[in-house]
Amino acid sequence: MNMQEYIAEAESALLHTYNRYQLVLDRGDGVYLYDIEGKKYLDFCAGIAVFALGYNNREYNDALKNQIDKVIHTSNYYYNVPAIEAAKKIKKISGMDRVFFTNSGAEAVEGALKAARKYAWLKDGSTDHEIIAMNHSFHGRTMGALAVTGNPKYREAFEPLIGNIRFADYNDIDSVKAQLTDKTCAIILETVQGEGGLVPAEEGFLKEIRAICDERDILLILDEIQCGMGRTGYMYAWQKYGVKPDIMTTAKALGCGVPVGAFLMTERVGQRSLEAGDHGTTYGGNPLACAAVEKVLDLFERNHIIDNVREVAPYLEKRLDGLAAKYGCIVERRGAGLMQGLVFDRPVRDIISNAMDRGLILINAGANIIRFVPPLVITKEHVDEMISILDTCIV
Ligand SMILES: *Cc1c(COP(=O)(O)O)cnc(C)c1O
Repeated sequence: MNMQEYIAEAESALLHTYNRYQLVLDRGDGVYLYDIEGKKYLDFCAGIAVFALGYNNREYNDALKNQIDKVIHTSNYYYNVPAIEAAKKIKKISGMDRVFFTNSGAEAVEGALKAARKYAWLKDGSTDHEIIAMNHSFHGRTMGALAVTGNPKYREAFEPLIGNIRFADYNDIDSVKAQLTDKTCAIILETVQGEGGLVPAEEGFLKEIRAICDERDILLILDEIQCGMGRTGYMYAWQKYGVKPDIMTTAKALGCGVPVGAFLMTERVGQRSLEAGDHGTTYGGNPLACAAVEKVLDLFERNHIIDNVREVAPYLEKRLDGLAAKYGCIVERRGAGLMQGLVFDRPVRDIISNAMDRGLILINAGANIIRFVPPLVITKEHVDEMISILDTCIV
């Protein structure tokens, strides 16, 4: 079948929950993807901030193949060595104490919310605790994650979601204070808002939230699903601010393509929240997924991925700033590290389609923002290549 025939098949079989680009991808190598007709694309999307190590990494592939030949799945009723090794490594890079592996980001958020609810329930036995979340946030598509996602467009048709969620404005501490009550048990936010428009938290904002949480024994949940795993030049973005969460979520680049996420907590919360029987998952933390996590974390360290982010990100910022200065339709550049956005005064879908025709894969964040979340192994030359293509696509 050719590309058009495959696309027609897909549209007759898959539930239409995405307006997909007209592209059937076949394989990847480094920072390039190839479609089924052999056309090559520079990839500045990385499967939405997932494939940090680049495609077809030999060591990563071999680690997965080895694990496949041993055992792919057991059950969480038994221990398995990849999960133990992955847990040890993720504790070390995050500075958190307890981890629960999940299959996705949304599932990690669900677990984080349950842990916060249980923590509060153990304190006073009441069942009307509230959670403060942020406007323009994104935490996933399941009912709990959606309930804390501050985008009415995603939520409206699915109400009622879980109750007692109050929304505040990101980077506006007074609006957070205005939502505080003596029922507040947790505040959840992304350290850098991704989907909502590539907005980093201001340091003062995060520090004040931490102080409020400490004062009132409220749990701070940081969603690092997109901005974590080295993307901002820190293993987890909060490490830059020195503001440690009580619970955090991670996913996307954690398995570099194998579906896996996690929520982590401090020992203090671990001792006073979810207990045996409270939470579970069949697949979560299975040997295949954890073999991926273990190898990803190993390669991050050995290949100095974070050093590369710190070297290339300022150059990406500079080149994007150059474009922003050149075109009146670009309102601003914003973001952190290799998580950047160009904000346009108009929808960007046509620009992204044009770029695709010219061999560059980009992704949007909302209608008017082009999001740049490339593999973390890109070089300055790849940035130049991306800019030179994009420069011909903006009209
Ligand atoms: C992608 C994302 C999620 C949801 O992760 P899924 O794996 O798609 O469920 C949650 N939070 C943030 C910040 C994300 O970027």
